[in-house]
Amino acid sequence: MTTTINTDDSVLSELATRWASVYGLRHVPADNRYRGIIDGVCVEVAVVDQTLQALFFSPTGSLISQIASDFAGFTNLARSGVALTSLTGLISRRPDDLGSCVLTLSIPQLLAVGPDKFDEIPALVVKDFHQFGTAANAMICKLCQAPSPTQLVQYDEQYHVICDNCFQTFQQRAMENPTAAAKPTVNWKKALPTMLITMVIGGVVWGVLQHQAFRLPFYFLVALPGIGVMAHARFAARAAHGMNRQLLVAIVATSVIAIVIGNVIGFAFALAALKVRATWWEILRTYFEHYLPANWQEEALYFVGGLIGIYFAWAAHKPKTQGEIVQRL
Ligand SMILES: [Zn+2]
Repeated sequence: MTTTINTDDSVLSELATRWASVYGLRHVPADNRYRGIIDGVCVEVAVVDQTLQALFFSPTGSLISQIASDFAGFTNLARSGVALTSLTGLISRRPDDLGSCVLTLSIPQLLAVGPDKFDEIPALVVKDFHQFGTAANAMICKLCQAPSPTQLVQYDEQYHVICDNCFQTFQQRAMENPTAAAKPTVNWKKALPTMLITMVIGGVVWGVLQHQAFRLPFYFLVALPGIGVMAHARFAARAAHGMNRQLLVAIVATSVIAIVIGNVIGFAFALAALKVRATWWEILRTYFEHYLPANWQEEALYFVGGLIGIYFAWAAHKPKTQGEIVQRL
């Protein structure tokens, strides 16, 4: 059984290499994929689960109506003998995503198409894309805005099209200093609102959990801020598409505020249990002026939990080197 799988995989790998050489797709060593641009359509080819898979998408033409109609308009591909059911449509929520499709072909399906037609398959899909608004020459390089970019790269979990010049500059920099840390980019526009939302939600959840009704054991009260801060840091780094020192400082600051929010809510519950009626302003003042100075050891323990969370969040984030990034582009 194992041998069959290996043979299948090596046959499929050869076929992937064949498309790569016919269409000038670039090999991506890190995950053994081929990426490129064919007449305005971005293509990524890989062997996945004993099938040959090709992802097609275009930044200049929408595929949404074709995805909705099960690719009924893909007449060029249909004529080649490839069943249109081999296409799967993908739609995301990103505003710049106009829809993509994955062509999945197993060995029996490839045998049915035959070797003569095999080379043509990507070109036929590209022709079908042109029927639905994709322009062959409308893209520009993401980095320098030069016309007709030729390289499809994946960076920060997104695909980008860049020109040969920019790609070579990237490679050269990596070759000169492959172990240098790549300059992390942080998307503050996305990171800030995410941090504020998780700060408020985390703070309120932390406060509610301190309610007497839950009777949480003491070690929980130390572990929970740690887990919360780690989750908070993860959300922030994901929204920012990266991590740097400034973002870490912002994560620490919002974590401290979140823990304080929770502690004040917990204090309010304690007052309510003692049947003390007070406004939020009075609760806040009493917390900082009277409660905190008298009980700082216990309150500090919650922050120790938070600190442990920050430590693990930072340790989990390994900055990529330039060499690694080029391997994955
Ligand atoms: Zn460029």
